[in-house]
Amino acid sequence: MMKLSDLGEFGLIDRIRKLSLRRNTATLVGIGDDAAALRLKPSSSLLATMDLLIEGIHFDLSYTDYYSLGWKSAAVNLSDIAAMGGTPCFCLTALGIPTAITTEQVLQFYRGAKALLARHKTSIVGGDTCASRRELFISVTALGEARPDAVITRSGARPGDRLFVTNTLGDAAAGLELLRQGVREQGVSGKRSSSRPPTPAERTLLEKHLRPVPRVKEGCLLSDSRCATAMIDISDGLLSDLHHICEQSGVGAVVRAGALPRSRALAKAAQRLSEPFLTYALSGGEDYELLFTVPPNRLRKFGSLRLAATEIGMITEGRSVTVIGEDGKKIPGERKGFDHFAVTAAKRCRR
Ligand code: MG
Ligand code: MG
Repeated sequence: MMKLSDLGEFGLIDRIRKLSLRRNTATLVGIGDDAAALRLKPSSSLLATMDLLIEGIHFDLSYTDYYSLGWKSAAVNLSDIAAMGGTPCFCLTALGIPTAITTEQVLQFYRGAKALLARHKTSIVGGDTCASRRELFISVTALGEARPDAVITRSGARPGDRLFVTNTLGDAAAGLELLRQGVREQGVSGKRSSSRPPTPAERTLLEKHLRPVPRVKEGCLLSDSRCATAMIDISDGLLSDLHHICEQSGVGAVVRAGALPRSRALAKAAQRLSEPFLTYALSGGEDYELLFTVPPNRLRKFGSLRLAATEIGMITEGRSVTVIGEDGKKIPGERKGFDHFAVTAAKRCRR
């Protein structure tokens, strides 16, 4: 197996360039020059988002293969473009690579990223690679576009708007717990004597954690139809991300616990999990589903879009977020979710 030190930085860039090559008429200059040159239409706004992922904080190499890591790194960025109602167009990827990582592993990372991006007609057009002393560092920038008047921010929610979420909640967090228990997909370091293969339901949960699917199509439909007034993607947990909408819109919200959508896989795997569904759904995080608000006068039009989405509550006056149980009583508990700068380094590794 070829070492990265043998291939060299420029050899690696050349391999990445060949691997990332994809016909795209808007790419005037792609990987291999000082910068990528990208054609922009005058009537569209450029959306740009960037994420930094650090080994031991965002991901654990004993949980994931490199293909999935590349996939997820790209997916979480496209999810941010989707949450604006935009269409992703381009990606830039930077890696800080420790010496223990092989060329093949790096290329698997890019294969995974490419596979996810190709689904959304997006490609890697640039980036950087450098050596790292210990941890693997990943930085992904995604660029997308949207009509300037159709961008969906976090600040447009108004009292009376209904609250919706796409697909199901809590699957990724349940998948993470299974990984912590030693459940492993085939081919992922099964060195631990305690590791075991997943059941079919558990595999679905692992997939949701390792290879999330950004809701790009849904975001675009909501933007084109002008049905959503505010939108965010669920990265840190439903309650935490709902708080962002409420804070930026100057409103409160009521969430009905009984309405939160649960997948069949999560129901089936329940007895292996330590927490009740509600915990994963409210504060699990990393689902990368879209959370958005629809005003009453656009509900009919929204219904005609036939999105896989569930109404889970309503926007209210005030500033508080309340969760109501199936018995009609308020469920106590405060905002939980992931906050990088609010937890200790030791705890971060458990993400
Ligand atoms: Mg981001
Ligand atoms: Mg986001």
